[in-house]
Amino acid sequence: MKALVLEKARQLTLRDIQVEEHLGADDVRIKVHTVGICGSDVHYYQHGAIGPFVVKQPMVLGHEASGTVIEVGKGVKHLKVGDRVCMEPGIPDSNSRATRLGMYNLDPAVRFWATPPVHGCLRETLVHPAMFVFKLPENVGFDEGALVEPLAVGVHAARKAQIKPGDVALVVGAGTIGIVTAMAATAGGCSKVIIADVVQEKLDLASSFGMISVNVTREDLNEIVKNVTDAWGVDVVFEASGSEAAVSKVFEPLCPGGRVVFIGMPTRPVPVDIVSAQVKEAHTETIFRYAHAYPRALLLIESGKVNVKPLVTDRYRFEDSIKAFEYAANPRPSSVKTVIEL
Ligand SMILES: [Zn+2]
Repeated sequence: MKALVLEKARQLTLRDIQVEEHLGADDVRIKVHTVGICGSDVHYYQHGAIGPFVVKQPMVLGHEASGTVIEVGKGVKHLKVGDRVCMEPGIPDSNSRATRLGMYNLDPAVRFWATPPVHGCLRETLVHPAMFVFKLPENVGFDEGALVEPLAVGVHAARKAQIKPGDVALVVGAGTIGIVTAMAATAGGCSKVIIADVVQEKLDLASSFGMISVNVTREDLNEIVKNVTDAWGVDVVFEASGSEAAVSKVFEPLCPGGRVVFIGMPTRPVPVDIVSAQVKEAHTETIFRYAHAYPRALLLIESGKVNVKPLVTDRYRFEDSIKAFEYAANPRPSSVKTVIEL
């Protein structure tokens, strides 16, 4: 079948590839429809590695996908041929200790699409465990289906934040993950969400969703937080930038007893002022991808509480996948999510 293959750093080809696709009793076969390009896909394309994960053999990219079921295994009950679906890209060992404890995203043996050496979903068809395939509601399209993957990160982060009705949140970073986190925080009960970034175009989009946007290149974030919260501080800070400067100051806008959720991944170890956390008895949480978040993300989209449609800013055909990656590596500032349609 045709697939978008990362041969090595900076070398992509759209070519035929042989992938083992045995359909087990609990699997479904899916014709892929829409795939979102993620920052991690672009990073593998440009650098051939993320931390300890190094591309050593040709690998199919992509992990944010929706499609249509074309074949079901004998044991599958909740899906049938023709169902429109989205797929959770991480497959854990179902008998592992982490999985049995409910933390399947932390299973050291998890096989996650387009994390070497596991092939991703930018190919015509794929086989996936039905347990990690979710039917799209009637009013949810393929674009939104592909966007469930990043939204799941926001849902997981909002859950870790233990939001209470009326909370005020700050999201640092207005990339795709920052924006979907702000959406999940709003849907989760926050009364106000402040979002900070350095790119005005991204902040303009955030403003259009009702968020209070702050351009930290020319505005004082702590002053604005003081104004919005009567000098108390925000109940929750979501760190979604991974920027060293932002991480080092992450406790400053927080209220006493508040909670910080670390989402962004700095590219190297960064110093953090522990005392600034201690004087507020700050709670800290971290997340790694997500677990049990797809059903909730889909319910939020179906109910209209979250609208991810405007996040799709750029669209390419499968034949133009290489162009899509060249673009995603160097997008216009207002670009949020580039999708490839098969
Ligand atoms: Zn992603």
